[in-house]
Amino acid sequence: MKNNLNETIRELSEIYDNDSQNTYVTLYLNKDALDEKFLERRENACTKLLTGEEQKNFTETMVEIKEFVKKHSGDNLAIFASRKHNFFTSVSLPMEVHGSLVVDSSPYIRPLARIQDEWESFTLVLLNSNYAKIFSVSLGSLEQQKSLSKDIMNRHKKGGCSQARFQRLRKGAIHAFFSEVEEALEKIADKRIVLAGPGQAKLQFRGMLPKHLAERIVDFIDIDIDDEKELLKESIHLISEKEEQKSHEAVRQLKEEILKDGLAAYGVEDTLQAVKNGQVELLLIEKDCKIKGWICEHCQVVKEGSVTKCPHCGKPISEIDVLEEILEFAERTDADIEFTDDEEIVNIGHIGAILRYK
Ligand SMILES: [Zn+2]
Repeated sequence: MKNNLNETIRELSEIYDNDSQNTYVTLYLNKDALDEKFLERRENACTKLLTGEEQKNFTETMVEIKEFVKKHSGDNLAIFASRKHNFFTSVSLPMEVHGSLVVDSSPYIRPLARIQDEWESFTLVLLNSNYAKIFSVSLGSLEQQKSLSKDIMNRHKKGGCSQARFQRLRKGAIHAFFSEVEEALEKIADKRIVLAGPGQAKLQFRGMLPKHLAERIVDFIDIDIDDEKELLKESIHLISEKEEQKSHEAVRQLKEEILKDGLAAYGVEDTLQAVKNGQVELLLIEKDCKIKGWICEHCQVVKEGSVTKCPHCGKPISEIDVLEEILEFAERTDADIEFTDDEEIVNIGHIGAILRYK
């Protein structure tokens, strides 16, 4: 099973079937038993609607998927599979997902992209002056990456050297320890870092970090050095608040760019064009919105609305959700993605983008 969500989404966004419409099966499934009925119902409906090779592929793909589901009944799952293309990828998700079974010419990545947006991974450093643990927090769970500790002389001198000398030595030892922590952090730090621990140590530590690391620190948590359970809870709460702020901020920025006719695209047509040109720096999508459209794989044309065949080449088209299509383009070009339910995104046409250039 995959655990690097960024990479997985990127890979999935590259995949589509040029010749056939309905060859990739995507399943989002919760572990609770209720979803078994849902799966059966969706499978029956799809089987009835598909014909020939597509039906055969679907049936065989479903056999593989159901075997996998059986083996992983304790997990919430996202599965992307196609027997025809000998393709199978799955992700285990710690949070509940909205169940869906989709048959299409490409994997349906939107729910996964949204989870990635809402549960962005970050690095958590728990430290005091002689002890540090570095965790990576991904999809809401904590994984310890590194643990460091050092014997540092006690705060109070026990005789021998002078008080001033003692303090100097102690300071030097703490500094040396922090340098070790910094070195470890340098190797594994995510884009965002949360510093946690009791007292002043975390502030001192930040003070000695080089700029490129200090800039990634998004917040501090004041907490006991051994309270890891509470630490996870607080840090996740903190990061999800930050995420919400980030998405509000992105909407505000988009609005500003639009008002001054700056580096922005908005509405389906405009945004689609920009994302195809690789201009998009940050894509903003309305959370639960879908917009009906079509794609001609032959001409590589994507448009909003509905037609019976391609007006350019006359070949059959596939019906799509235009927003999903734009999202896939954006993932392929490494754009940042934010989901939002701010009313402003509705007003500007459900989707928009801040551009790298114009
Ligand atoms: Zn065409």
